[in-house]
Amino acid sequence: MSNESQITVTSPLLPDLEEFNSLLKEIWGSKWITNNGSFHRQLERELADYLKVPYLSLFTNGTLPLITAIQALRITGEVITTPYSFVATTHSLWWNGIKPVFVDIDPATCGIDPEKIEAAITPKTTAIMPVHCYGKPCDTKAIQEIADKYGLKVIYDAAHAFGVEVNGESILNAGDISTLSFHATKVYNTIEGGAMVMKDEATKQRIDYLKNFGFANETTVVAPGINSKMDEIRAAYGILNLRQVDSAIAARQRVAGIYREHLRDAEGVSFFDDMPGVRHNYSYFPIFIDADAFGKSRDELYFDMKKANVLGRRYFYPLISDFSTYRGLPSASRENLPEAYKTADRVLCLPMHHALSDSDLERVLGFFKK
Ligand SMILES: *Cc1c(COP(=O)(O)O)cnc(C)c1O
Repeated sequence: MSNESQITVTSPLLPDLEEFNSLLKEIWGSKWITNNGSFHRQLERELADYLKVPYLSLFTNGTLPLITAIQALRITGEVITTPYSFVATTHSLWWNGIKPVFVDIDPATCGIDPEKIEAAITPKTTAIMPVHCYGKPCDTKAIQEIADKYGLKVIYDAAHAFGVEVNGESILNAGDISTLSFHATKVYNTIEGGAMVMKDEATKQRIDYLKNFGFANETTVVAPGINSKMDEIRAAYGILNLRQVDSAIAARQRVAGIYREHLRDAEGVSFFDDMPGVRHNYSYFPIFIDADAFGKSRDELYFDMKKANVLGRRYFYPLISDFSTYRGLPSASRENLPEAYKTADRVLCLPMHHALSDSDLERVLGFFKK
């Protein structure tokens, strides 16, 4: 092991401790620590404004809004989804007794390939669950056209897409529902946390009941709900972090610029450029290694870096379809998912966060010098 300090793939954005302490004092004073308190309501308003979405409901993490969205839209049978994501995407289907049907990705975006969706639709299909992987917007127009043609719902796992906009409009407004994760590893965090974005007040009302056991008032339970409410302490933390998320995204953008400038001519290394008209959030910086041209496989590079205390992450390897729960599904085969398997074998996410120093970047880029 190297004795140089560790460079991690991400680092949590933390609010100022003094400021957090003064909000904690308010909470201690009011003794209102959870159940739709004032910080919870304030953060919902501020996030809806910041993200340019009509309605938003806070959750305790980014997995429960996925599970709850499937319940709320009464999704059944089969759902078409991507194998190239964090495992929670597919787990949310499994927890609802739904059969996931994996469709291959378009390697140009790492999102589900809209051209391959129709062939996977059966009479049991009720929804499509795409992921804006790495915060790169899916082709939401093509996906919506298919959904409309077959009468399917669309739930976007937008865990990576905080603040992403296309031509000035939030990507979170696509589909029927979008979900966000505010986990410590994400661009914007509330330690653990998440949210659901919906289009109308009635859905927001229903979701607010569902995340609180189905209680509509003290004595009325309108649905078999769950408990996934965010508490006041995390909401207060989230209010403070929202004030600095733009500068964190700007710092990430600078890192992406430096990586691109230095990796542009590296043989056997490819990466994404910004898309025209898109406000990116620079949540991840994936590179793709062509072992022959680079002279080393992705795994050799990954372990070389690890030995030197530079921690990249192989997001998303293994594919979800490769985990034991899902491996037996007919749609999980390599033949059905050639691009996803190829990409999973080549990808490495480089360290990407707001606090990387120039010397950190030099150490990362040292692995790509001739
Ligand atoms: C992080 C993540 C989730 C899960 O969010 P948690 O807040 O950790 O529950 C779901 N989907 C994707 C794509 C993610 O990256």
